[in-house]
Amino acid sequence: MRTIKDLKEMRAFSERAKNHGKKIGFVPTMGSLHEGHLSLVAAAKRKSDIVVVSIFVNPMQFGPNEDFKHYPRHLRHDINLLKNFEIDALFLPEANKLYPDKFAAAVEVGELSKKMCGKSRPAHFRGVTTVLTKLFNIVVPDLAFFGEKDYQQLIIVRRLVQDLNLPIEIISQPTVRDFDGLALSSRNKLLNVKERRSATILHKALSMAKTEIETGERDVNKILFRMRSLIGSEPTVRLDYIVIAHPETLEDVKAIKGKLLIALAAYVGTTRLIDNLMVDA
Ligand code: AMP
Repeated sequence: MRTIKDLKEMRAFSERAKNHGKKIGFVPTMGSLHEGHLSLVAAAKRKSDIVVVSIFVNPMQFGPNEDFKHYPRHLRHDINLLKNFEIDALFLPEANKLYPDKFAAAVEVGELSKKMCGKSRPAHFRGVTTVLTKLFNIVVPDLAFFGEKDYQQLIIVRRLVQDLNLPIEIISQPTVRDFDGLALSSRNKLLNVKERRSATILHKALSMAKTEIETGERDVNKILFRMRSLIGSEPTVRLDYIVIAHPETLEDVKAIKGKLLIALAAYVGTTRLIDNLMVDA
């Protein structure tokens, strides 16, 4: 596994691989890797000739009062995990190189970025799409791998590559969960024991809604009310939003029909977690 920090070196590495007819699979991450990330790496290994993983905690996607400073960072542990996977390159760009002094550009995916998480994190997806556009231009991947756990991000990235004619196939992988249903997240490391226990309520509420829909409930408001009540029973958990939405437009639905996204965000203590489930009504 080659570790590359320099942007030009990364680009040269990819160009060499492409000149040899190799298909590059790319897994962008913010590190503090867990089985969710590793499922993307495994998929990249299966589908590509060369696998590049990046670790970069992107300051542009954090708001001024968010957890950029406290975001978990475990580089040595991450490197050991990736060595077991025998990936080809680990890309570790530096913030002052990606965002030099006069940096002023941004890439934005309009409406989709304003819904759901965009309401409480107004500049978040702008930061995500800007850094991904940069990383795509440097790594020049044929395939890029994203988790369904960050469902809104996945939909926005698909829109980004389509609208900007980026020749990259976006491949998604299902959410990897802990034994009790909690979606794996680097931020789970920030939870104390009590919060970790309370956090399972999020998946419970999603599963409850899914079961209700699958057994015939058709009243959106009743489902949302019961989800809110269940989550409200955990004093350490404060709901940010819940939606039952169209899986492509992310618009709230009025009727329970067809494929639907049930998604939520909540603060467990001070840690903001997201999760979602798809349901076919
Ligand atoms: P992050 O490091 O949080 O930016 O995530 C990097 C990638 O890993 C994103 O595409 C995430 O959607 C994906 N990911 C994070 N957690 C999970 C999970 N529990 N299951 C599957 N993919 C995940």
